[in-house]
Amino acid sequence: MSAVQPHSAHRSTGGGATVGKGRFAPSPSGDLHVGNLRTALLAWLFARSTGRGFLLRIEDLDRVRPGAAQRQLADLAAIGLEWDPPVVEQSTRLALYEAAIERLTAAGLTYECFCTRREIQQAATAPHGPMGAYPGTCRDLTAAERAERRAAGRPAALRLRSAVTDFTITDELHGEYRGAVDDLVLRRGDGMPAYNLAVVVDDADQGVDQVVRGDDLLPSTPRQAYLATLLGLPVPHYAHVPLVLNTEGQRLAKRDGAVTLGDRLALGETPEQVFGLLARSLGYQANTPPELLAEFRPADLPRAPWRLDPARLVASNPGP
Ligand code: GLU
Repeated sequence: MSAVQPHSAHRSTGGGATVGKGRFAPSPSGDLHVGNLRTALLAWLFARSTGRGFLLRIEDLDRVRPGAAQRQLADLAAIGLEWDPPVVEQSTRLALYEAAIERLTAAGLTYECFCTRREIQQAATAPHGPMGAYPGTCRDLTAAERAERRAAGRPAALRLRSAVTDFTITDELHGEYRGAVDDLVLRRGDGMPAYNLAVVVDDADQGVDQVVRGDDLLPSTPRQAYLATLLGLPVPHYAHVPLVLNTEGQRLAKRDGAVTLGDRLALGETPEQVFGLLARSLGYQANTPPELLAEFRPADLPRAPWRLDPARLVASNPGP
């Protein structure tokens, strides 16, 4: 069902064999909290326990805080994770994303969208589209209408002309998952590639065939998988893992207390103790990454979110 010419997505590793890779892809918008560290640990465990490489990718197309990426890498290393160099930054790969956008455009699969966020919110959802989907306002503008909007100075985003309204993926923890696909943004109005495009292009280009990440991203996954198929790229194996919640059952946030490694070190915990806390949250007694790797069984992972009381230290947070 490839609509455009595939490009070389599979990297040979010299001897002809291809080695799949997993990855952790943080956005450098601040320090990682223990939930992010736990997701990174899981991504590492899934990759290394299946003989895969493990990459880190800095997703810096949006929300960059100076110094955050460096601190994120240092924290991952401090809890004992290792990865295969180089660490890639999305901001250095814009030409790759543009090339994918051009291939979709050449296949007639894109259109300019002049809508503001507000206009999209106010427009009724398309009659046959998924709830909250882009209603297709700019999908069939005439050349004259487009020229008029451009002349009015409205910055255009570029959207995918999607032929489907939903797509089904398979997830290691969630099984078959069907989710909405709309005319998603490929290039934002500010000219930057959209996350959904960049992630698909990067995973394929980097030989990533296993995507382990927080389950808040599960709803975006069908559209990413659909986009991959349109670009003739392989769809990776997915595992969307539960998030960490505070004692109120809300997503863990900075205001909850000692949520980053730095916060916890400041209270006198060691990186080893924080690693132990993460291992316990996964149901293991291991104290180091190699010990945990030896015991790791994805099928036994807790499926419910991890509840953490960040106000209390390691000894008070014994398990899932
Ligand atoms: N950069 C995204 C985040 O930090 C993760 C993207 C992904 O893992 O695909 O939420």
